[in-house]
Amino acid sequence: MLTDSHAHLDSERYGDDRTAILKNAWDAGVRTILSIGIGDGPDTMHRALEISREHAGQPETPRIFASAGIHPHEAALADDAALAKLDSLLTEPEVIAAGEIGLDYYYDHSPRETQKRVFRQQMEIAGTRKKPIIIHCRPSDNSTNAWDDTLSMLEDEWAATGLGGILHCFTGEWDHAQRALDAGFMISFAGNITFPKAQPIRDAAARVPLDRMLIETDAPFLAPVPNRGKRNEPAWVAQVAEQIGTLRSIEAKDIAETTSGNFRRFFNIG
Ligand SMILES: [Zn+2]
Ligand SMILES: [Zn+2]
Repeated sequence: MLTDSHAHLDSERYGDDRTAILKNAWDAGVRTILSIGIGDGPDTMHRALEISREHAGQPETPRIFASAGIHPHEAALADDAALAKLDSLLTEPEVIAAGEIGLDYYYDHSPRETQKRVFRQQMEIAGTRKKPIIIHCRPSDNSTNAWDDTLSMLEDEWAATGLGGILHCFTGEWDHAQRALDAGFMISFAGNITFPKAQPIRDAAARVPLDRMLIETDAPFLAPVPNRGKRNEPAWVAQVAEQIGTLRSIEAKDIAETTSGNFRRFFNIG
């Protein structure tokens, strides 16, 4: 049994065949997916929740949970209405986390000071609603700038809530993983762990305690080898489990079971 802890099922790239994609996932052993609710921006933040409801209880379909949040790319769009919408979505039982939120200094689509303010505002809302947060963090090339700022903010403004969260698509250094673990976070690895140049990610995945690890696709992005470059889909989280199994000398099915158990435990899912 596999759990994809991070997929953008609301992507328009699944417009025609979302049901078939979910059947593929089921056939690959995926039983749970967290559908990330950032939409194309705050206006479509609710789409992940809709997808969760549309597919609930369907045969041969994974159980779909949702998140809601404003991605750092769209931080400049986070007006009062957008933040109120986030607050309202976080009251829904299917919406189990706030995210993905954080800082992206690689693209800088929103000014950094705006990104920090909106990240902070969303942490406050998530704290009030008692929901964990899913973190997106991407520094500038050859820099740790976004990690430095994200981890300081998590340590100073989030760790004390005790709610924790997930560092999604981890690409940082071991020191960053360690600080996040200390702040109560799970570390999630994505398909880029299979890329030839991703040795630092594999090094981190070899060290993260197994009971703090999750796996994800970040679909439709970051398709793992051998499907690199194609539209990614939750079924291919199996390749992430394979890669981590190889690194840890553990069978892939045990990585699948362990990371699924971690997900259920972290989110208190029965
Ligand atoms: Zn992300
Ligand atoms: Zn994502």
